[in-house]
Amino acid sequence: MKNKVLIVYTGGTIGMVQDENGSLHPFALDRIYDAVPQLKHCCYDIDSVTLDNIIDSSNMTPSLWVDIAEIIERNYNDYDGFVVLHGTDTMAYTASALSFMFKNLTKPIVLTGSQLPLGMLRSDGRENIICALEVASTRLATIPEVCIFFESHLYRGNRSTKMNAENFDAFASYNYPSLAKVGINISFKEHLFLPMPTMPLMVRKKFDTRVAILKLFPGIGPEVVRAILDTPDLQGVVIETYGSGNAPTDEWFITALDEAIKRGVIVLNVTQCKAGAVKMRQYAASCDLDRIGVIGAGDITIEAAITKMMCLLGNYPDDKAHVRERLSQSLRGEITE
Ligand code: ASP
Repeated sequence: MKNKVLIVYTGGTIGMVQDENGSLHPFALDRIYDAVPQLKHCCYDIDSVTLDNIIDSSNMTPSLWVDIAEIIERNYNDYDGFVVLHGTDTMAYTASALSFMFKNLTKPIVLTGSQLPLGMLRSDGRENIICALEVASTRLATIPEVCIFFESHLYRGNRSTKMNAENFDAFASYNYPSLAKVGINISFKEHLFLPMPTMPLMVRKKFDTRVAILKLFPGIGPEVVRAILDTPDLQGVVIETYGSGNAPTDEWFITALDEAIKRGVIVLNVTQCKAGAVKMRQYAASCDLDRIGVIGAGDITIEAAITKMMCLLGNYPDDKAHVRERLSQSLRGEITE
């Protein structure tokens, strides 16, 4: 019997075809065999579901993450793997969010997209779809993870980031190696996969969006910091700090954070650097943060940090101690421990 893969089509550049005037339009997924005729000869069965509204991924929202997750959940037992076609702009956020939503995943969920529309001659979409489908349907390895496939690499989803708006090689995973590399053969690095869970699948579907990201820069002033930290009802903030988690030591800055934390706002320290980790107290410039209760998030990406915070706050609304504890730990391989 052939393996079965379900494609969930959400939109993005990959789904565009050119009409006779050269304009780009989303294509109907039931025409995928016209766009990628090679799929007629593949050795797996494909079905597809399209979101009610296909979107540019700049319009992605937590409620659409829930829609995607529910499609996968409803079909979980009937397929061997899932491919989510998604715009590249927010793909790393969606991959991170799905990774936190699906607990005890035993099958691959592979997101992919393209830099050039499928309907264009030089599109990278054909290669990406074919490889993502092959990975999601493979019998060579069982990948119990949410991943991104892009330009010959399979990345852990919650370690990925879009780092290039021009090249076909648009994604990177700076702090964790690729799970597979596609050349003449697909070389799976099984020792890098998450362990296969033994408990039943659980899907967490709540997100709390009362969060913010505060990116530091030399010259940032109290008005900007206060405007974010004093946002009514704010529950959590990710601060993007310098280097290994360092921030200004000015009294006004530490006091503003300290007051927010005392009001119950969770503050998570993530570095602006692409690679490497927050190490609280390595420099004097992070000692105050540690003292007032800012949580160090190790080498997590910003995409994983904000989606993890929203997911934990949404699912444990009355247990901030639990949220704080989980934010400092790896839940789905998003932090090196
Ligand atoms: N703006 C598009 C999107 O993210 C870009 C892409 O798909 O590459 O939907």
